[in-house]
Amino acid sequence: MSFHLTILGTGSATPVLSRNPTAHYLQIEQEGYLIDCGEGTQNQILRYKLRATRLKYIFITHLHGDHYFGLIGLISSLNMHRRTEDLWVFGPKGLAEIITIQLKYSDTWLNFKLHFIETNTKRSYQLFENEHITVTTIPLVHRIECCGFLFREKLNQYKIVKDRIPSDLTIEQIKTLKGGENVITEDGSVIFDFRDYTIPMVKGKSYAFCSDTLYNEPIIEIIKNVDLLYHEATFLDELSTRATQTNHSTAKQAGKIAKRAEVGKLIIGHFSSRYKELDKLLAEAKAIFPNTSLAEEGKTIEII
Ligand SMILES: [Zn+2]
Ligand SMILES: [Zn+2]
Repeated sequence: MSFHLTILGTGSATPVLSRNPTAHYLQIEQEGYLIDCGEGTQNQILRYKLRATRLKYIFITHLHGDHYFGLIGLISSLNMHRRTEDLWVFGPKGLAEIITIQLKYSDTWLNFKLHFIETNTKRSYQLFENEHITVTTIPLVHRIECCGFLFREKLNQYKIVKDRIPSDLTIEQIKTLKGGENVITEDGSVIFDFRDYTIPMVKGKSYAFCSDTLYNEPIIEIIKNVDLLYHEATFLDELSTRATQTNHSTAKQAGKIAKRAEVGKLIIGHFSSRYKELDKLLAEAKAIFPNTSLAEEGKTIEII
C-alpha cells in the first residue's frame, strides 16, 4: 500500500517568514489525510501540488491557533471548488462549534456534508478505521487538551513477491492478488492463485504524529516500533525549563522518545521562531537517536 507523507509546516506559534505553522499531508493509496491545519495550509497544498480534492479526513490535535487556524479557509475553498463528497474532521471539543459559527456568520452553505468527530484526548483508543488503515489517538500533555495520531496499515493485504510475478500481469490482476484473491476466468477457473505470488504481511506501515507535548513517557508503549515518528522539538535542551513551562519538548527529549520507542525513523519539527538555523536541534536529537531528520516543508517521504 502506498504511504506518502508531505510536511507542509514546520514552525510553531510565533509567525516567521521562513516557516509555516503545522500541517502534514498523508496520502494512503488515493486518499488524503490532513493532520493539523495551521494558517495558510491551503496555500501550501497548492504550492506543493497536492490534490485537495483527495482530502477526505482531517485530524486536529488541539485548538492552539498554529494547528487549526487554516481550517475554515480550507473548508470554504473546498466549497468554492464545488466539492460534493463528505469530509470528516476529527478534533477536540469546541472545534465543531468554532467552525459552525464561522460558517453561520459568513452565511456559507456547504455543498458537501461535514462530519465532526470529537476526540477524547485523555486515553488512547481507535478513533477511525477504513479498508486501508486504523487511526489510534496518542494522549499528549499540553496546556490545553491535545492528542496525537497513530496511522497504521491494516494487515488485510498480501505482499507481492516481485520475481514470482509474470510480466504480463495487469495492474488490476496484481491488485486482486494483493487483496488475497485468485485471478479467475469468467467460468471461475483459477489462472493465478494468490498464494503462489504473495506472502502474508507481518507488519503494517505506520506513522505517529506527536505535537504539541511535554516530554511524555507513557506514549512510548503506544508508538512502539512505528516506522516513522514525527515528534515536536520546539527548543534546544538548554531551554528545557522553558519547554516545561510551555508544555513543549526539546530536541533531546524527542530523541529520547524515539530511542525508547525503538522507532524506525524520527522527524523533528515545530521549531521555535528564535532558531534561524536548525542544525543544533538536529545534532541534539541525533546524538540520542541517529536516524533523525529535520522536518522540511514540501518534502515528501515514502514510508516503506
Ligand atoms: Zn503548536
Ligand atoms: Zn499548542
